Amino acid sequence: MIPAIPSEVVTHMRSAERVVALTGAGVSAESGIPTFRQAQTGLWAQYDPIELATPQAFLRTPRLVWDWYTYRRQIIAAAEPNPAHYALVDLEQHYPTFTLVTQNIDGLHWRAGSRDMLELHGNIERTRCFECGTYAQGWDEEGELPPRCGHCGGLLRPDVVWFGEGLPERELHLAYTVTQQVQIFLSIGTSAVVQPAASLPLIAKRAGAYVIEINPEETSLSVVADCWLQGQAGVILPELVRQVFNLSENQEE
Ligand code: NAD
Ligand code: ZN
Repeated sequence: MIPAIPSEVVTHMRSAERVVALTGAGVSAESGIPTFRQAQTGLWAQYDPIELATPQAFLRTPRLVWDWYTYRRQIIAAAEPNPAHYALVDLEQHYPTFTLVTQNIDGLHWRAGSRDMLELHGNIERTRCFECGTYAQGWDEEGELPPRCGHCGGLLRPDVVWFGEGLPERELHLAYTVTQQVQIFLSIGTSAVVQPAASLPLIAKRAGAYVIEINPEETSLSVVADCWLQGQAGVILPELVRQVFNLSENQEE
């Protein structure tokens, strides 16, 4: 079924020049990568992701956390970008100023072709030392795990932001700056509870932007947004692109 997109949304998107899209785990759900709120499967079903994704968990049980990220890396390596990722590439190519701010660590936006991108929560493909922060150029999965830093001997960890940790300063600063100047702000597939990313749509709204949310579930943003498009990102976003760019139903971008 083709989702109904209010004509007001299409009009706003057609006249805008500066657009920001904030994405969360929901955008990758249709690629088969579970969100934190979906139950984990197999061996990992007994663990709550929110309790594994912390520096305390890594200090207590480094091997367990390392193995969980190895497992997640394998899911990501086998996954492909979905129509939502590709629709965001179309938007980036269409607008003079378009910034994708993502909380995802899976790199699927990059694989789809997005380039003007701020990764707020790091990237699971990178690894750095828990002690001295030095990035590892590669690591051995065969020996002791987690592997050790070549520089100081500390344990290597994924270069992702865990609960209780600060966000990368440069990315956060740029995300705030673009958000304050934007005309359209899209919040897609995020539960809008993890700070400070959750405050971005509110900052945009205060600065006068038209705020659109895309999510099958209601979030704390849904009532604040100018329009909540209820549904899956992989269905709504391509349809939005089609209507905004005035493409016929069978026409490819
Ligand atoms: P979240 O798990 O809190 O929320 C996901 C949201 O996506 C929910 O609101 C859900 O209703 C919505 N959703 C589910 N399926 C959808 C679909 N098909 N289309 C649109 N929306 C859909 O995720 P979050 O808000 O990104 O924040 C939690 C943290 O989880 C972040 O720090 C993020 O780094 C991390 N995380 C990342 C990945 C990834 O990189 N793919 C996966 C899991 C968790
Ligand atoms: Zn080190």
